[in-house]
Amino acid sequence: MERRDFIKILSRYVLASYGLMLCPSIALASDSDELAFQGQERLNSKKYAEAVDLLKKALEMDPGNHWAYGLLGRAYTGLDKRGEAVAAFRKAVNINPEDTFSRMMIDQLTQKPIPKTQQKKKAPPGPEQKARQEEAAALNRISSDSGLGYKVERVVIDAGHGGFDSGAVGLRGLKEKDLTLDIALRLHERLKSEGKIKTFLTRTGDYYVPLSERTVIANQHNADLFISIHVNASTNRASSGSETYYCSAKASSKEAMKVAELENSVLKYDEGFKQKAGFFDFEKILRQIEQRLYWRESGKFASIFQGRFKQYLPIKNRGVHSANFYVLRTAKMPAILLEAGFVSNLDEEMMLYRPDFRARIVEAIARGLV
Ligand SMILES: [Zn+2]
Repeated sequence: MERRDFIKILSRYVLASYGLMLCPSIALASDSDELAFQGQERLNSKKYAEAVDLLKKALEMDPGNHWAYGLLGRAYTGLDKRGEAVAAFRKAVNINPEDTFSRMMIDQLTQKPIPKTQQKKKAPPGPEQKARQEEAAALNRISSDSGLGYKVERVVIDAGHGGFDSGAVGLRGLKEKDLTLDIALRLHERLKSEGKIKTFLTRTGDYYVPLSERTVIANQHNADLFISIHVNASTNRASSGSETYYCSAKASSKEAMKVAELENSVLKYDEGFKQKAGFFDFEKILRQIEQRLYWRESGKFASIFQGRFKQYLPIKNRGVHSANFYVLRTAKMPAILLEAGFVSNLDEEMMLYRPDFRARIVEAIARGLV
């Protein structure tokens, strides 16, 4: 799907949510989304029973959350509770008749097509019908597990830190800012030579770019994806491996919160970051809803990305997590943050020094993106 179609559909969602904002249930709806996020994560790590608990809570808060019903259906499918799974998918379809993914799951689980009376009733003939069909197909691609709803063609690569902000520093003196720049430049060259993806860099040298400006750059380039490259550090020197993050209002774990705190710590130097309080900012609420939709997509993309990335990099896979990363927060596109390893781990720091290992990281990222 073309990016503009994706945006068009997204804006319809935003407009639908806009109606919701007029009633006070909006706060509940966003909490419900958060729980559904957490449920999705349990689902991705095959903890189906935990996913069911979280998703049920999400649905108690917002019984109209069809996304949560779809996830609940998948969790029950994982537990092999077909009856409950079908019931959840039916709920999803009842709330959102265009949820063709859930419809397909019902078909698969019951092995017979469900009546399409609802469809008949609402689809007028002619071009409008065709547009609806296209939209349903597009929505299905967005809500299915097969990946993002559109092809990634323009990527903004963000080399974490820079200038006075060194980021993490290893025991042997490896600086995060130098490593991330080297990987970003290599990735840029690698993707340029392949020609399928157009890339943009937030920085090309050793200087500092404020966190807020990095996503502004991505938004200006009208990118399909924003990837921020980092390496991790921990007081526990045994910690090792790679992990992918996406943005959420609440952190998925204490560790994730710590990582976000570390990556956000430079924020105090960012100019112009002033809280405007005391008035009702309608635009802001609209933007927040739009952002949540991108975060949702980011979560899906992060799972796919980390899944491929780990196949090509011979270090521990620490999975996908979420937290409130300032650098990802305002991106108007799916945005992820990669922690490619630990400089605080002596073995990994030595590997990260090696050009051949850096080349493998670049290869793993490229394969994760394409
Ligand atoms: Zn960092």
